[in-house]
Amino acid sequence: MALVSVAEMLKDADREGYAVGAFNTNNMEIAQAIVEAAEAERSPVIMQASQGAIAYAGLEYITSMALLAASKATVPVALNLDHGTSFAQVVQCIRSGFSAVMYDGSKLSLEENIAMTRKVLEIARPVGVSVEAELGKIGGTEDDITVSEKDALFTDPDEAAVFVRETGIDCLAIAIGTAHGQYKGEPKLDFERLKKIRALTQIPIVLHGSSGVPDEAVQEAIRLGIRKVNIDTNIREAFVWAMRRELEKNPNEIDPRKILGPARSDTVETIREKMRVFGSSGRIK
Ligand SMILES: [Zn+2]
Repeated sequence: MALVSVAEMLKDADREGYAVGAFNTNNMEIAQAIVEAAEAERSPVIMQASQGAIAYAGLEYITSMALLAASKATVPVALNLDHGTSFAQVVQCIRSGFSAVMYDGSKLSLEENIAMTRKVLEIARPVGVSVEAELGKIGGTEDDITVSEKDALFTDPDEAAVFVRETGIDCLAIAIGTAHGQYKGEPKLDFERLKKIRALTQIPIVLHGSSGVPDEAVQEAIRLGIRKVNIDTNIREAFVWAMRRELEKNPNEIDPRKILGPARSDTVETIREKMRVFGSSGRIK
């Protein structure tokens, strides 16, 4: 199967009311784990690469792994750029074979964000690459957000309506209380805000920083219109915790495969659990 775009993938999710997991890859083992989990769960899957992943593995390696994985897969696989901030990089990703890009202009003013996102759409649309954009500021878990800060940082539903109408994006990443990284306490999601955004935009909504959000909260968010759930931290944890366990068990082990193999297996299990929570399991016959 060739890579499919995220927009294409989210059509069925939107119709049936589930979400597709977007899992960050950094190396071969994680890329393999993402596709292995999708095959085992008969689930569509989005593999994505962050700025860090591209710096670490290189754009060509990431693209080659995803293209190879998709060509062998019997379930739909998408390859998405996560938090693209440079137009040049978006172009590079599209040219190298990505089926979707996220352009993150959330640090810009609304007008600039609209202008840049439109520019991305102009080059992505003709080649069938779907576009996710972000409005509002998704924090880091170290950021303590007070109630008064919420309105400044969280996505404004009316702005979201304008943004979606003016750009024509395929899906929108929003800030409703999740954060990137490991949470210290339990994150509280602003479901009312999500409900309003969804009602005003009518497009698939994306939840970032979803690792560590309780399953019930994620499922409630999916009920209210979240169609793509990003998971990075939980994958890092599964991978590194397994490596640590194997190294502690066998401190003299010098075969990387004996450490990385179990890390890959644990990552598969973590991703499979997420797919069941998101309701994407068993969607592909
Ligand atoms: Zn993110």
